[in-house]
Parts: sequence; C-alpha cells; structure tokens
Amino acid sequence: MGTRLLFLAVAAAMPVAAVAQDDEAARRRALAAETEVWEPVPPVVEAPADGVPSDAIVLFDGSGLDEWEGEEGAPAAWRVDGDAMVVGMGTGGIRTKRDFCDMQLHIEWRTPEEIGGMDGQDRGNSGVFLQERYEIQVLDSYENETYPNGQAASVYKQHIPLVNASRPPGEWQSYDIIFTAPRFDADGDLETPAFVTVLHNGVLVQNHVEIHGTTEWIGAPSYTAHGCAPLSLQDHASEVAFRNIWVRDLSDG
Ligand code: MG
Repeated sequence: MGTRLLFLAVAAAMPVAAVAQDDEAARRRALAAETEVWEPVPPVVEAPADGVPSDAIVLFDGSGLDEWEGEEGAPAAWRVDGDAMVVGMGTGGIRTKRDFCDMQLHIEWRTPEEIGGMDGQDRGNSGVFLQERYEIQVLDSYENETYPNGQAASVYKQHIPLVNASRPPGEWQSYDIIFTAPRFDADGDLETPAFVTVLHNGVLVQNHVEIHGTTEWIGAPSYTAHGCAPLSLQDHASEVAFRNIWVRDLSDG
C-alpha cells in the first residue's frame, strides 16, 4: 500500500516539473529574442574563391585601360601586357576616371625581377595613391634597406608597416586596403581624418591607422579639403606591373 501511494505521488509530480521546465525554456527564448536584430538584412554578395566579389567595380582585369586616364586627363599611357598593366616610365602616373571616397581596394603588383644594381627607394618604386593624395608605398622591400616609413606597405612618411611581408622581386604581391576618407565641414576644416587598414599578401601591416594629411616627400603632411577623388598609381621610374584591380565602394548612398 505504501509503495503504491509513493508511485502515485511521483506520477502526479512529474508533469508539474515538466511544465515548469517548459516555462523556463520559453522564458529564456523570449529573453534571447530581445537581443536579436532582424533588420537590415545584409545584401547578398557572391564571393567566389580567387574571384571578384559580385558588388565590386573592376578597374583592371587585363582587357584594357578604359577605367584609367593620365594624371592631367590625357589617355593613360601605360602598356597592357597580358593580364597586367605596366608603368610607362616617364609618362607620369595614371588615375581612375571614377572618384572614390570610402572603399575596399584589392590590387596586385610586381616589381621588376632584374634589380639592375638598384637599391633603396630606386628599386621597384611606385605607389597606390588613395584619393590621389594618400600614398601606400609600392617598393621592392625584399632584402632592400630603406627608411621603414618609406618601405613597401608604409603609409609613406607617416606609418611604418607592422611587419615586412614582401616577396622577392618578380613575384606578384597583393594589397587589400580598407580606406575611410577624411571628412571636411562646409568651411573646409577637417572634421575627421582619413583612416586606413592594409593587408600585404594577406598579412595585416596597417591596422586602422590615422592618415595625417596629403603625402609629402619633404615636410609634414597636412589636410586640404577635398571631395571624393580618383585612385592613382605612381610612375616613379620603375617598371612596376599591376593586375586584378577592383574596388568595393563603401560610401553611403
Ligand atoms: Mg612611391
């Protein structure tokens, strides 16, 4: 008799415990839902392996220099060689016809395999100029001493790269650059400076560093107000090649 009573008591208590457990689970799910954010839903971007993201603007894929012009607006005088374009030494830099503000940039570059007795800043020098003003240095910095704030992947004369991720001359290298453009108020005064993050051959070399103004070879950098502006590539008397250049425009609107 005693055993039977105990059995009944246990049988009666079990559903109560189960209900309490369900209530607790529901309460926790409701709490979790309070911190779920369902909008906005990010747009879908196709990102193929070794390919270009579907929302990128292709600036050069080997098919021609249609996206580019000379520094003064003349036709771009660099030569296309296979899937690459090569600095036309003495012809000046080239720039995009499009203007950019905030952007993600992918660009691949190769300095000449033949060093030809060159060293320091004379070896494979070019440059990626964000908004035509802010230079991420391109240089053969493989076993090539120079001032570190002017070596490859430096923000020229402003920030030394965290590491030297350079490959030997003649090998293709890459920069992935995330750039936040400076903001100026209606009077042309600086509101917020530019910032840049750079990966060199996939290695972080500049981690959201502040750009102090237009790149200067001599003297301190400073800002002059400007709007969105082209991306430009430097002719620094070295036959540097570029390929696979694309941009994702990160500006609002
Ligand atoms: Mg340079």
